[in-house]
Amino acid sequence: MWKFFLGLSLLLSSVQIGQTQVQEPCAAAHYLHHLEATHPGFEAATRQVYDRVRGQGQARDLTLVTIPVVVHLVYQNEAQNLPDSLIEAVLEVLNQDYRRLNVDAIQVREDFLPVVDDPFIQFELVGVERVATTATFELNLFGGTLPDNVKTTATGGSDAWDPEHHLNIWVCNIEGGALLGYAYPPADLSHWPEGASAPSPGLDGVVVHYEVFRRTGTFTTSGLFGLGNITVSVRGRTITHEVGHYLGLRHIWGDGLLSTFGIPDCNADDGVEDTPNQGLNSQFSCDPANNTCNEGSGDLPDMWENFMDYAQEDCQNSFTFGQIEIMRSVLDNERAGLIEGSVSTRNVQLPTSTLRLYPNPATDNFVIQREENTSATVRLLNAQGQITRQWLSWTQNRLEVATASLPAGLYYVQYVSREGQLTQAVVVE
Ligand SMILES: [Zn+2]
Repeated sequence: MWKFFLGLSLLLSSVQIGQTQVQEPCAAAHYLHHLEATHPGFEAATRQVYDRVRGQGQARDLTLVTIPVVVHLVYQNEAQNLPDSLIEAVLEVLNQDYRRLNVDAIQVREDFLPVVDDPFIQFELVGVERVATTATFELNLFGGTLPDNVKTTATGGSDAWDPEHHLNIWVCNIEGGALLGYAYPPADLSHWPEGASAPSPGLDGVVVHYEVFRRTGTFTTSGLFGLGNITVSVRGRTITHEVGHYLGLRHIWGDGLLSTFGIPDCNADDGVEDTPNQGLNSQFSCDPANNTCNEGSGDLPDMWENFMDYAQEDCQNSFTFGQIEIMRSVLDNERAGLIEGSVSTRNVQLPTSTLRLYPNPATDNFVIQREENTSATVRLLNAQGQITRQWLSWTQNRLEVATASLPAGLYYVQYVSREGQLTQAVVVE
């Protein structure tokens, strides 16, 4: 049931309180308090985990780590079958946001400049799975279920690649309204209640509505329970937010019970010391005057710049030191498998017989031949390891590679599929 707490992102409803129309992720918070009722001590346990992380006294000399990403595009029609170029463009947003290379980072208000930083986390797209389906992927709040059927082939979705070593991102049409994405927090965090994380390793990862898996435009969805419409600016940042959950972060406003009803809950906290105390999500307003918990002298306004708020995506731009410490601690512990060794060595080595390259040496072209026709990514790397060509979601048995325009020399064909990876040399004359 944990999924309804950290997991639900941008789960919106429209609630009428007095004359004020407020938008709230009320289901998420409702489920948090359901958890507290069914797992006594749940909130206290959560706090303990954050205390553990904070206690590690992080130095700021972070090394750059790379997380391999597999995108599963599960589509019901061609409009949902997003092109490779878009997948790469959205991954670029993720890479910018987790390296603080996003050009709008400079827009963070001066109040928060001392606490924001670069997480030193990057993402490498290693695979794209495309699955045409007739299945539907529905949020059912009353039944208490998320559309996890997108994560298994048997239920019309796409099976995860080894979830210990890959971040799996499923992109699909999420029906039921109001849900733009969700993610499970890490498994095995100490003191976590049973059943807090993904129900099984294969269900771990991030799910994103295909309508927000792009870099521009707006998306309008009905509010929770069909109340009101909500329009969000889309900048590809739903996955930035969801990956934050996946790496252990909570919403910045702390998901307090009162906030469920649009009343600032300043006692609820996200467990991060350097985020301001915030009683509500920013409800897609980026108004500098927003300040739900005014604590007098030295008080900071609400931080709608934070990726873990619910703000318009074009005014989100930052993670704080405290948030970065949590994510990096999760990568050193619960999700260490994601950053073990290099991306290529984290995958199982496939037998050399998997691929046949000919002719080798090649003059005008060469052929990559295989027996299997599962989805794979094929890259042609030069001797320096730089990508010169890339084919995502290759599903054929035979790929002809023209080499006439390539400088003569040694190249490597890197082949990555769900089953593992293989690199073979080819000489271009
Ligand atoms: Zn969220």
